This record gives sequence, structure tokens and C-alpha cells, in this order.
Amino acid sequence: MKRRKKVLFAVLSLVILLTITSCTAAANPADPTGAAQQSPLQKGWNCTFHYAGDYWNCYDLSKSFIPTQSDFETLVASYIPQIETLLGVQDWYTAIDADADTVLVNLEMGGTPHSMVWSPTKGSDGTIEFSILLSFNQIKTPGDRALAHELTHSVLGRSCFSNSLEEGICDYTAARIGVNYSIFFAENGIDIMDFYTYDVKAALEKIYDTEKGSKMLDSIGRSGGYPYSLQTQDGAMWYECSQSFVEYLVKNYGLDKTMQLIREGKGEEDYQTYLGISYEEVKEAWIAYVKNCEPQYTMEEYRKMAQSFFEVNGGGD
Ligand SMILES: [Zn+2]
Repeated sequence: MKRRKKVLFAVLSLVILLTITSCTAAANPADPTGAAQQSPLQKGWNCTFHYAGDYWNCYDLSKSFIPTQSDFETLVASYIPQIETLLGVQDWYTAIDADADTVLVNLEMGGTPHSMVWSPTKGSDGTIEFSILLSFNQIKTPGDRALAHELTHSVLGRSCFSNSLEEGICDYTAARIGVNYSIFFAENGIDIMDFYTYDVKAALEKIYDTEKGSKMLDSIGRSGGYPYSLQTQDGAMWYECSQSFVEYLVKNYGLDKTMQLIREGKGEEDYQTYLGISYEEVKEAWIAYVKNCEPQYTMEEYRKMAQSFFEVNGGGD
């Protein structure tokens, strides 16, 4: 395993590469978890769309993951059932409107630095309305992670007691259904958890035993909101750590219990309720796991695979 001075930069470059690059909107990727199970509650949603602007005529999105409006609509329609199935949340709509059969996706694209969503609401005429803001920064770059991530927020609603857990499960999902991500990981035989754990390990190695590192680690999985500006390097690392923590929970306690914690938990005491282990204990175990992670590939190998797959001159180092 290589440990060079520039490893942190290489890690961040790779993360950025994987976050912002894609080819074109491909067909739906297969569910890489093999966990697909249809629930009686799962509906074949009708999707309707509203756009706050004439985006595809105003902007050149041809190199993005949604080159046409039709690609966007196809992706939304395919992501919603994939999210339901992957996370086992086919009942998500029942608290909003049990009779709804249509999702109205209200899309705004803008110059904000990051994408966001609001909790789904009960619309008029029997729809459930998703309001999504996709940042041009994340669309034109051309990434394929933002939409899957934001739709996961939409499906789950924005009610988790821990923003760290919520962002973690959204990135967990985006890594598995993102239109190119799942293919990249599957084609290269990459274990997704291993990949992200290595990423976090390499990033944190620089700040373990520092005040900054302690603050970062302390915030992961905690109750409450966002401790960092999302646009800073610390904010990006917080997202990566949150995903790694959720990956660890799913791997060790199962997706069902992790989703119960995320959806029904009220505070840190509910780690014990749903996982049977205290927050402090599981946090300590996750940190030890990250520190001791021995990845299947070196960062250089991961980077080469990513460059080859995405066919870009990324990296910057
Ligand atoms: Zn998010």
C-alpha cells in the first residue's frame, strides 16, 4: 500500500473524480446488492414534472448525466423504485397520502453551490410533491450522484434526528444506484464499503489525534445538524465519514435495523434501541475499523480504474 505525501490530495481528487464524473445516462443499473424484493406496498408510481425554467434550452447539459429532459425524467422514474427497494422503504408515502399514486417532481436548477430538497408534501389533485434543487455545479461537471442522493432525501423525508446519518444513507444509496457508479464498482469488482472506508482512512490519517480530527469524528452519527459548511474540504470529509459510518452500520447490524434507526430514532440513545449497542460503543468500533482497514486496491489502482472507466483526465496531481 502506497503512502506518499500526496496521498490525501490523491484521495480527495479521486473522490471528486467519482463525484463529478459520468458518461451518459445509461440504462438502469442492476441492483448490485441483490437485495431486491418487491413489497406489496410498492407502487408503480406515475411521475409528472414541473420545471421552474426552460433548462435544457437555456443551458448546454449535453455532457452532463441528464443531457436531455427526457433523460432526467427517465432517471427519476427509475430511481424512485430503486431507492424503495434498496432501502426497504416501500411504505414511505403512507404518512403523507396513502392513496397517492403520482409523484410530482418540481425541479429547479440553479447557481447555488449545492443541491437540496425539501420534505415531500401532499400536493393538490392527489399527488405527492418532491421539490428538488439541483446545483449547476453538480450537474454540469458532469456528475451522476446528486440526483440519486437528493431523491433519497425526498423519499425518506427530512426528519432524521441526525443529519450525519441522513446524509450517510443518501450517499450509501447514491453509490449503489447512481447511473454510472454502480456499473463502475461492479465492473471493477470493487467492494463499495472498502472503497469508501479506504477513502476515509486516508483522509483522516492526517488529522487523527488533532483537535480538528476529534471534532470531525465526534460529529459523525450524532444528533443534530450540519457542523460544517458543505462547500469546504471539511464539509466534504464530513459527508465521506458519514457515509462510511452508515456503511459500517449496515454491514454489521443489517439494513433493516439501520433504516429503523434512521427513520424512527429520536436521538443517540436509540442506537441501543435499534442496534443493541450504544452510540459511543459503535462509534469507537467504527473508528477502529477505519483505522485498521486494509483495502483491496491501492489508491493508485483505484484511481487508474476510475480514469479508465470515466475516460477523463481527472485527478489533478
Ligand atoms: Zn444530502
